[in-house]
Order: sequence, then structure tokens, then C-alpha cells
Amino acid sequence: MPEYKAMNVVLPEADTELRPYFVAAGEGRLVAKRCGDCSLLRYPPGVACPWCSSLSFDWADLSGEGTIYSYEIITQAIQPGFRDWVPYPLVLVELDEQRGVPAADEALRVIANLVTADLRPEAERNVAIGRRVRVVFQPLGDGLALPQFALSDQPPAAEPWQYQD
Ligand SMILES: [Zn+2]
Repeated sequence: MPEYKAMNVVLPEADTELRPYFVAAGEGRLVAKRCGDCSLLRYPPGVACPWCSSLSFDWADLSGEGTIYSYEIITQAIQPGFRDWVPYPLVLVELDEQRGVPAADEALRVIANLVTADLRPEAERNVAIGRRVRVVFQPLGDGLALPQFALSDQPPAAEPWQYQD
């Protein structure tokens, strides 16, 4: 049974809706569903296209590169497996694909932990809106992995913003 932080990951072989996302991650690929009718990408995967309701799709490979659109610092672990991680950053990543499509405020945005290269939580002082990130993969076992993000060396497009208290 695959697991993440001592929690069982239940993704039956018959699950064609979500399992392929984690199988691709296990192969080192970040993917999103692409509508078979209007061709727009979507995340989360979902059964139908949120733009045209089509049930037709395929899985498209993504670059895995993006920008921190928003973030929060988790200070209390709901799951016991995260107790040794707090405080840790959770990020909303705006991927480079499909920014501003199909409307100006739309984009492919993925929620993930922000981690270091060795898959430990990134320090709060390093997290800022606008910083560039790239996908990394947390192995779950049985060939599956969980996409996470790590800071990249790419320069930000604008001065990053960070909460100051
Ligand atoms: Zn569509």
C-alpha cells in the first residue's frame, strides 16, 4: 500500500480519474487533464471540463515550472504525520502553462507543500509570492509519487512579496 507520512494512499487500479496523475508523478512527470473538445487544461483533474462540460480528455505533460501565487504557513498539524513539520509552508502555484486563459484572472493553480531538494519543508523566511518554483516528486511507494514544489533559481518577474509581522 502506498503511503505518505504514515497515511495510507488509496488509489485503486480501477481509478481512471485520479490514479494516472500519481502514476505520472511516479515517472517524474507533472500532468493535467486536457479537454478533448476545447483543449483547455484543468486542475484539479475533475470528471468534466469546467469550461465546456465535456467528458472527453487526455493527460498532458506540463513543464512543472511556475510562480508562487499565494501561500500560508501551517502552524498546527491536523494529521499526526505533519507534527514534525510545523510550521511549514503550503503554496498555491500558478503554473506557466495557460496563464490568463481563458480569462484574464484564470490560470492553472496547484496546491502543494513547498519543500527543499531533500523533501523537507522549506523555511518560512524563503517563501514569498512571486518566487519561481519547480515541481519535485515525493515517492509514495508502488510506483506512485506526490507532486510537490521547490524554489528554483529562476529570477522572479517582479519583486517578491512576503508577509511581515
Ligand atoms: Zn472543454
